[in-house]
Amino acid sequence: MSARRLDGVATAAAIRAELASRIARFTSARGRAPGLGIVLAGGDPASEIYVRNKLRTAAEAGCRAEVFRVDGGAPLADVLALVARLNADDTVDGILVQSPLPQGMGRGAEQQVFDAVAPAKDVDGFHPQNIGLLAQKRAVLVACTPLGVMELLKREGVALAGRRAVVIGRSDIVGKPMALLLLHQDATVTICHSRTPDVAALAREADVLVAAVGRAAYVTPAFVKPGATVIDVGINRVTDAALVARWFPAGHPRRATFEANRSLVVGDVHPDVEALAGALTPVPGGVGPLTIAMLLSNTVVAAERRAGLPSD
Ligand code: NAP
Repeated sequence: MSARRLDGVATAAAIRAELASRIARFTSARGRAPGLGIVLAGGDPASEIYVRNKLRTAAEAGCRAEVFRVDGGAPLADVLALVARLNADDTVDGILVQSPLPQGMGRGAEQQVFDAVAPAKDVDGFHPQNIGLLAQKRAVLVACTPLGVMELLKREGVALAGRRAVVIGRSDIVGKPMALLLLHQDATVTICHSRTPDVAALAREADVLVAAVGRAAYVTPAFVKPGATVIDVGINRVTDAALVARWFPAGHPRRATFEANRSLVVGDVHPDVEALAGALTPVPGGVGPLTIAMLLSNTVVAAERRAGLPSD
């Protein structure tokens, strides 16, 4: 048996289509499109790709997205000054600071910058005020990746109330908000991390298993209860041909992708899980597209609230 594929691309397209009328309504009410300001410090190649995707998605949806660049060698104060300027700019409804910030900006720089974003414009949902509201189940802006996972589970009809959910990973941007959102839908939630003994045994209890670890193929069939819904948040770039050969049999299309690019993006979930799980998000094409769709959704929510318009 092969797991039902939870298609993040199609769900993201549906979310974007639903946002279109709200974007049009805002634009006609305010005489301008919802505005998203993206802060990009340094020239990290992966960040450049992520930012390009976000700009394109926002533009295609009828939002006005602009990237504001800071030189990689600039001091943290420059990023903070830029954030202050965007906070004060009435045409900017949402602010996103692309992570990671350059290492030279120092330890704790990212937290300082996230803290500096006006909570009402915090479309990443990283500000302590928004995280506090989430903890109290009255969130307005929630971190895009876990929000996207919840949207997918809802639209795919995956039941949560009274069921066991296990989240592997406890980061502020994925694992923790993910666990809170599942809890708020009445799942019984366990969070695992690098100090958890026997993660596989805990994971095997899950009806819904979320892997947000950042380790390629970490979740093997030994972690999965037959029939479970498995959400693979991981994005890992693999360049080792031997690993790819071990994971994918000869003739598998992913081998051809690896041969063409000499690298392959894989999730945290081992390909063999597909034979055991009831439903599974692919990588790529699962959680990734949903993250960008929820960024758009958060931008629209922030714009509507700032304008005093109702959110549908
Ligand atoms: P992160 O900050 O590095 O957190 C990873 C978490 O995994 C940590 O809590 C860590 O535990 C835990 N962990 C590490 N090794 C483990 C092990 N052997 N057993 C159990 N837990 C372990 O990463 P993140 O930002 O949450 O991202 C996780 C993954 O999701 C990455 O691959 C990232 O690229 C991907 N991601 C994808 C999207 C998307 O749009 N699809 C968005 C964001 C992130 P400790 O806390 O104990 O260190």
